[in-house]
Amino acid sequence: MVNETRIWNVQQDEDEGADNRVEVGLREAGRLLRAGEVVAFPTETVYGLGADARSSDAVEKVYAAKGRPADNPLIVHIAELVQLDEIAEPPDDVSARLMARYWPGPLTIVLPAKLSALSPLVTAGLATVAVRMPDHPIARRLIAAAGCPLAGPSANRSGRPSPTRAEHVVHDLAGAIAGVVDGGPTGVGLESTVVEVNDDCIYVLRPGGISAEQLHELHPRVETVAPDAATDPTAAPRSPGMKYAHYAPRGALALVAGPPERTASYIVEAAAKEAARGRRVGVLTYAENAERYAAFPGTVQVCGSLADPASTARGLYDSLRAFDEHAAELIYAEAYPEHGIGAAIMNRLRKAAAGRIHTIG
Ligand code: AMP
Ligand code: MG
Repeated sequence: MVNETRIWNVQQDEDEGADNRVEVGLREAGRLLRAGEVVAFPTETVYGLGADARSSDAVEKVYAAKGRPADNPLIVHIAELVQLDEIAEPPDDVSARLMARYWPGPLTIVLPAKLSALSPLVTAGLATVAVRMPDHPIARRLIAAAGCPLAGPSANRSGRPSPTRAEHVVHDLAGAIAGVVDGGPTGVGLESTVVEVNDDCIYVLRPGGISAEQLHELHPRVETVAPDAATDPTAAPRSPGMKYAHYAPRGALALVAGPPERTASYIVEAAAKEAARGRRVGVLTYAENAERYAAFPGTVQVCGSLADPASTARGLYDSLRAFDEHAAELIYAEAYPEHGIGAAIMNRLRKAAAGRIHTIG
């Protein structure tokens, strides 16, 4: 247990001395990481919780701060391709092409690990390691300052929506980690896509910032591992994190799919009944449908628009956390069209719903 969590503002504001402030902040954060402490940092997807990936003492602190199950391995973040050599065997051709095309970026690739170079807690006993090179200047400078690959799961308490702002990290982890590098809001807003190449096929273990369509541009064989297989507790998960409930606000979230008009009237009616029984309700909707909730008896979160999936991805976790601020006990979320990053949005909503899904015919 750390008592005081330091916060370094490394946003490139126009203030005099900004460069120096950023430099000093990253140096101090890097020093703490080298000393085996845990520091949260911004990436282009969500905030990560960094620790020296070679040190079990350091990685142990990540699991403790998050309250994360120990059989759920961590993604290792690198700043430069030369660092890959330290931790993984040389990649197969398809993985190498994925790196050339999408690194730095929101794509995590599972590779055969050099186990002696990594804490066994990072791989959770697997023979593979999941690696990513973030496309965020602060993340890369911090990894360089730490001088080691960083284990970096999302910087939230396990099961909660991932943090897309430094304030989210502080809310979940203040007092439990050594520091937070505050680089402002993240860009993509959802986690990286996790893939593993096997028998010349790209298996998508977790949809994310790079869509299946984008992967398909690079290689003809892409398969998304079915979310059902991922939530069936008896099935052996390909990606261990698939079996855990995730991304959830405190209230119970129900996902509602159907034509917009009927979906909205179903939600308003159901919410009115609950509200009449004294329960606090919320709805997650998108700009095009927002007007349908003028009479909604609770919190309305308008999360981006259907015309711009990136805007919904960017705002999703902030909206889910906003329901907690309103102490919503029951949350209705409209389904989102599943192309491009929409697949990742729906993956997160399904997990947050943990099986509460209504389809309106
Ligand atoms: P998070 O750290 O919250 O971004 O989640 C990381 C995701 O990557 C989880 O779903 C993990 O199960 C998955 N992952 C990490 N390492 C591996 C690995 N070696 N093989 C398969 N999946 C992995
Ligand atoms: Mg996470």
